[in-house]
Amino acid sequence: MTATLEVTDLRKQFSIGRPAIDGVSFGVPAGEIVVLLGPSGCGKTTTLRCVAGLEHPTGGEISISGRVVSSPASGILVPPRSRDLGMVFQSYAVWPHMTVRQNVIYPLKHRKVRRTDAARMVEEALALVGLSDYADRPVVALSGGQMQRVALARSMVYRPQLLLLDEPLSNLDAKLRLRLRDDLRVILKQTGMTALYVTHDQAEAVVLGDRIGVMRDGKLLQMDTPDVIYNRPADLFVANFTGATNELAGTLVTCNGRYGVVDFGDGRQGEVALCQTLKPDEKVRIALRPENIAIGRPDGANTFSAKVLDRRYQGTQTAYGIELFGKRLEAIELGTAARHQVGVEAQVALPRECLWAYRDSGPASHD
Ligand code: ATP
Repeated sequence: MTATLEVTDLRKQFSIGRPAIDGVSFGVPAGEIVVLLGPSGCGKTTTLRCVAGLEHPTGGEISISGRVVSSPASGILVPPRSRDLGMVFQSYAVWPHMTVRQNVIYPLKHRKVRRTDAARMVEEALALVGLSDYADRPVVALSGGQMQRVALARSMVYRPQLLLLDEPLSNLDAKLRLRLRDDLRVILKQTGMTALYVTHDQAEAVVLGDRIGVMRDGKLLQMDTPDVIYNRPADLFVANFTGATNELAGTLVTCNGRYGVVDFGDGRQGEVALCQTLKPDEKVRIALRPENIAIGRPDGANTFSAKVLDRRYQGTQTAYGIELFGKRLEAIELGTAARHQVGVEAQVALPRECLWAYRDSGPASHD
């Protein structure tokens, strides 16, 4: 049986500093993978540790499958071992003096599962993580990626209702990381387990999550499908953190439903997508992904003249610096053809659905 998880108005204040978690609420339906994404210090690990019972919240409520496991107001704090969950951490946390099988069977011995059942459950867990042929190897003879698979098998072997994963891929080299990232989603979906996964890596979040929650300063800014987070960020920080690294400034001239017209300050105007409820005359900041800038491909009303400042090859893509509205913007084109010459003026199209306008509420949102 897989769990549902309900986190309501969660708060955690350590003895010093601002609140590590400042009123976070979300739900995870059975069998869903939710990824908490955010920069270092945003409170994602503390949230996960509160769900695990390793950290004691200051306020709010946590329920697993309808059972309240934490509620400071009601004096409820169920210990971690009674929450029926598995955990995988950044460090592999395997016992080096044991074989793969001994590592994976360990939690079953602890839980007094019958030997024949335990042997079968270990085989199943090892098959799931692709380590059936390695059962009798000492763990120290494995690669980092394989050790993390052992840790994963060990956390799943007793079939917990809920799996919590805290940056489990961070210690792996780039190639292993990508492989295990892709495998992990397949493995989790095969088990049907509910999972809460913490990372600061947006590519990992997009691949793994059914939904992604973006956190900043102890708050959950947006939780939605990767598609919505990526293509319709509700917040300027979310847009930035998920790769919309260009930012323009302007003043709204008119609003018309989902779109508006912005004056960019140099007399030029263009259409933008409104990501919040905004009014004419409001100052706005506009987020734009480098890959959504089309150099040399004029396309209707949102086409502007810009100067190509520089060009850099980046393997399968080419990055350009361009000057537009008095700002330097980054643009990316797939391929390595030197299509645009440095120093020339080019016509640049910015599709209105890719220009996301937000209220200008002060300090920069770049982290
Ligand atoms: P990282 O990716 O670096 O682990 P994170 O987003 O997971 O970051 P947390 O580890 O949850 O962030 O930390 C959130 C805030 O709480 C930070 O400001 C951190 O300094 C603080 N914090 C975390 N643990 C403690 C602790 N034991 N005592 C005091 N402050 C803490």
